[in-house]
Amino acid sequence: MTTKTFDMIIIGAGPGGYVAAIRGAQLGLDVAIVERENLGGICLNWGCIPTKALLRSAEVFHLMGRAKEFGLSAGKIDFDLAAVVKRSRGVAGQLSAGVKHLLKKNKVTVIMGSARLSAPGKVAISGDSGTQELTAKSIVIATGARARELPGLEADGDLVWSYRHALNPPHMPKKLLVIGSGAIGIEFASFFNTLGADTTVVEVMDRVLPVEDAEISKFARKQFEKQGMKIREKSTVKKLDRGKGKVIAHIEKDGKTETHEFDTVISAVGIIGNVEDLGLEEVGVKTDRTHIVVDEHCRTGIDGIYAIGDIAGAPWLAHKASHEGVAVAERIAGLNPHPVRPESIAGCTYCYPQVASVGFSEARAKELGFEVRVGRFPFIGNGKAIALGEAEGLVKTVFDAKTGALLGAHMVGAEVTELIQGYVIGRTLETTEAELISTVFPHPTLSEMMHESVLDAYGRVIHM
Ligand SMILES: Cc1cc2nc3c(=O)[nH]c(=O)nc-3n(C[C@H](O)[C@H](O)[C@H](O)COP(=O)(O)OP(=O)(O)OC[C@H]3O[C@@H](n4cnc5c(N)ncnc54)[C@H](O)[C@@H]3O)c2cc1C
Repeated sequence: MTTKTFDMIIIGAGPGGYVAAIRGAQLGLDVAIVERENLGGICLNWGCIPTKALLRSAEVFHLMGRAKEFGLSAGKIDFDLAAVVKRSRGVAGQLSAGVKHLLKKNKVTVIMGSARLSAPGKVAISGDSGTQELTAKSIVIATGARARELPGLEADGDLVWSYRHALNPPHMPKKLLVIGSGAIGIEFASFFNTLGADTTVVEVMDRVLPVEDAEISKFARKQFEKQGMKIREKSTVKKLDRGKGKVIAHIEKDGKTETHEFDTVISAVGIIGNVEDLGLEEVGVKTDRTHIVVDEHCRTGIDGIYAIGDIAGAPWLAHKASHEGVAVAERIAGLNPHPVRPESIAGCTYCYPQVASVGFSEARAKELGFEVRVGRFPFIGNGKAIALGEAEGLVKTVFDAKTGALLGAHMVGAEVTELIQGYVIGRTLETTEAELISTVFPHPTLSEMMHESVLDAYGRVIHM
């Protein structure tokens, strides 16, 4: 067995891992990264990017269907699912190749294979080219997560799909059941529903997109229903009877069970961390259920071993992973980076309409003891939204009534996943209503609604 020594070894080349590698290399560290499947991880290959490519096709399809509204005409509007998927896979492939290029450019050693901690400071790798051992003072675990499977609801790739199957679907669903209305479930529901699948979403919690502000969930639900989606909240899929080309779902609500037939089911009931076969117990790294326990600097408590991204717990978002990647590489290189603060990380869902938020919901802020001032502004009051033909949406802001601190912002409507970053910067800079009110927002833009929502919280709204 060959042994090589590096300053930092990273296990997993998702957004957490590859960004840590590049930042480490920028700071002069000799870095190796080990990946068992695809450079770019879930995000680029099976998550953020290919889903957004699919959703873009659905968005264009939807707009083509509305051609008349814009004074245009289109012939027969149709789609070719295989071509839509091919485009999505192509985008994923392009970005994964881009990561390969960036790692090479930064002189990061890339090793394809499965890694395992064999002892503190030692990583054993098995791959096509045999077994090797690497040593380093610092090891970063960035092994990410995979779809959670519930007993009886396991994906089979034919009738019941995980997100991986849904990204490369064997057929176009006619009657689709989506179990779980978190970001992943609702994005697939939105995609297939827009393309014409008769779509039902079952959510165990009392509302869709349950991590969002209750008002935003309610608004989004109404929009989904207008588009023909059936939403069943406070409901549980107890059992799936799989037959030839069909699945009978047993759906329970308030103690009563109904059965409904579908031809396809997407199970989107959460994710679990890839903690297995990493040698964590042997080196003493603690786990909590399927996540590695870390402090705010991604330290595991074992000298020289760090964990970042999905494997290190919520929020399970690519930008959280990559930001932790930067922070951890800087710490290893001897700098003193700031910790990543989950409450200032935006969550974005790219369904139609889009949903985005940062900070505390109104209910959470109240639970935490804040006296709140709340502002709201509807898309119908914004010139750009009307010009775009996207007049359905809402921008809600939550302030600390005592200090004016921006506690949270919650948006539903066109392009809100792009807009939210304005509020994220505000929160990072610990902004108050005063700075937001005195900021000049360009006209005509959707961003003016962000201003108006703040003005509304302080009784100064103009266009409503
Ligand atoms: C369908 C879907 C859509 C999503 N959309 C979004 C979105 O729009 N925005 C967003 O922010 N997030 C989104 N996410 C979540 C996002 O993909 C994750 O938060 C992100 O990928 C986490 O990055 P990571 O670096 O922690 O791990 P990952 O991206 O999961 O990468 C981990 C890598 O480690 C490798 N690995 C695991 N074990 C080993 C081992 N023993 N040896 C070697 N390699 C190993 C894996 O092969 C994998 O490539 C989505 C997820 C899914 C599933």
